[in-house]
Amino acid sequence: MGGRGAHSSMEASKKSAKFEWTRERETKKKYSIEYPIGEENKMMYNDTIGNLASIFPILEIKDIVPITVISKTVAGVAMMGVTSSLDPQTGNTIIEPIMGLAFNKEVFKTKESLEETIKRNFDLKHLAASNTNAIVVHEIAHILDFQLSIKQNLNISLTEFLKPTSFANATEAESRQGKLRNAIARGKRFSDSFPEALRSEMNINASELQNMVSEYSKKSPAEFFAESFAKWYCSSNKNGEFERAFYKILRERINKL
Ligand SMILES: [Zn+2]
Repeated sequence: MGGRGAHSSMEASKKSAKFEWTRERETKKKYSIEYPIGEENKMMYNDTIGNLASIFPILEIKDIVPITVISKTVAGVAMMGVTSSLDPQTGNTIIEPIMGLAFNKEVFKTKESLEETIKRNFDLKHLAASNTNAIVVHEIAHILDFQLSIKQNLNISLTEFLKPTSFANATEAESRQGKLRNAIARGKRFSDSFPEALRSEMNINASELQNMVSEYSKKSPAEFFAESFAKWYCSSNKNGEFERAFYKILRERINKL
């Protein structure tokens, strides 16, 4: 990204492209397979998923049944990984990718509990939007990022990616697992070059752009993408400067895949 300082007087006037990321170490989360969305929030949840899947056909999300994340501080989480297990019958190694959504049951229990959490997080600038579906949209944006990364790095659909494969040879299984993990790894994701592309399109400083989105967007390029996506999707003014630039860059990048 040409971050070697000003090369010429022309360059000196360019807006600062340097993004600072505050990335924290991931803490281990606990899950249960309980359906987390309360009766009052079901329509919001299904409508948001249906609408986003119609705007972004690559988003194969309708079959993902959300589960519960057990945590006092986490409202929602998008999960992905590639597991390996031994088939006790054949002794073969089974490689199986997982991708899913988990939400805090207490937070999503009623409209009131959800809106209270969203308002609190929006006021703290931990969320880029205050709409009732802001958390759901943020997590779906991570799933979109994973799917676009799979398309970008392996040129396959989510259905193909998620298909378990059985290997008699453990080395071959390991190599397959590594290849799949790589496709969604940090540093190789669709979202990695997104912040700089958006900054350059808007011609503002990296820090100005991060402040415009949210505090949470400063964590990593992936969180920046999810927060920017939520800000754009939840905005009532799709013609705003940020909204137009965000959608333009996203569309251009999807079309190139
Ligand atoms: Zn996130």
